[in-house]
Amino acid sequence: MLKIAVMIKQVPDSQDITIDPVTKTLNRSQARNVVNPPDVNALEAALLLKDKEGGEITVITMGPPMADVALLECMGRGADKGILVTDRFFAGADTWPTSYTLASTADYLGGFDIIFCGEETTDSSTGHVGPGIAEFLGYQQATYVNKVEYEEPFFIAERDIEGATETLRIGKPAVVTITLNANAPRNPTLKKKIEAYKKGITIVANKDLKLDPACIGLKGSPTIVKDMKTVADPVKTPVKPGIEELDKVISVLVERGIVK
Ligand SMILES: Cc1cc2nc3c(=O)[nH]c(=O)nc-3n(C[C@H](O)[C@H](O)[C@H](O)COP(=O)(O)OP(=O)(O)OC[C@H]3O[C@@H](n4cnc5c(N)ncnc54)[C@H](O)[C@@H]3O)c2cc1C
Repeated sequence: MLKIAVMIKQVPDSQDITIDPVTKTLNRSQARNVVNPPDVNALEAALLLKDKEGGEITVITMGPPMADVALLECMGRGADKGILVTDRFFAGADTWPTSYTLASTADYLGGFDIIFCGEETTDSSTGHVGPGIAEFLGYQQATYVNKVEYEEPFFIAERDIEGATETLRIGKPAVVTITLNANAPRNPTLKKKIEAYKKGITIVANKDLKLDPACIGLKGSPTIVKDMKTVADPVKTPVKPGIEELDKVISVLVERGIVK
C-alpha cells in the first residue's frame, strides 16, 4: 500500500486572464478557476500507480478557502482525501515559503512514499515548488517525468530528454514532477463527486504546522516584484530570400538531380 500525495494548485484559466493596463498586474477577478493543467496529469499518474500497486492518494493544496472545490474535483477523479492548507499567515508566499509550507504539511501528515507535483503552474510557472518540497523534506527527486512505476523498493520514472527517453530508478521517499500531457486524465464521475462532497476536506492551518511566521507567507518571501511590463506582440515581417539564398537552393536542387 503506497502512501501517495499529489500537490495541486488552483489557477485562473489562462484563456480568461487579462493584464490590468494601469497596475500591469494579472487581472484574475474575471477568470474562472481551474486545477493547474499539469497537476491533473500528476493526479492521473498517481491514479495509474494506485491502480497497479494499491495505496491511498491525498491531494494537497495551499490556497484561499475557495480552493476547496479544486480538491473536491480531484477527489471526484479518484483521490481519497483532500487537504486545504489555508491561513492568513500563508498569504502572499513566493516559491520558497510555498515549498516550505507544503513540505511541512507533508511532514505533519506523517510523510509519503511519493509526492507528485505538476512540472509548473500556468499562472507563475517557475517550476520551483516540486524540487523545493523535495529539498526541504530530503526526498529524492525526478523532474519532467511522464510515467512512474514501482518495483519495490524503487520507483521507476521515465522522462523525455531531447530525442530520447531517460529511465531513472529512484529510492523511497521521492518527489516527481509530471509534464503537461504526460497521460490522458480520467474524468470525474458523479458517484465519486457525491462521495467527495459527503467526505469533505480537512483544513490545515498554522496552529497545526506551528511554523515561524517570519518564514512563511509574504514575510518569508525573499522575492520582491519591483516592476512588470507588458510587451507588444512582435510584428512578423515575411522573410524575403535574397538572390544568394536562391542561388544556394538552386545549386542544391541541381546537385540532387531534381532540376537540370
Ligand atoms: C513576491 C511574490 C508575492 C506573491 N504573492 C502572491 C499572492 O499574494 N497570491 C498568489 O496567489 N500568488 C502570489 N505569488 C505567486 C506565488 O509565489 C506562486 O504562485 C507560488 O509560490 C507557486 O509558484 P509557481 O506557481 O511558480 O509554482 P510552480 O513551481 O511552477 O509549481 C510546480 C508544482 O508545484 C505544486 N504547487 C505549486 N503551488 C502550489 C500550491 N499553492 N499548493 C499546492 N501545490 C502547489 C503544483 O504541483 C505545481 O504544478 C507571489 C509571488 C511572489 C514572487
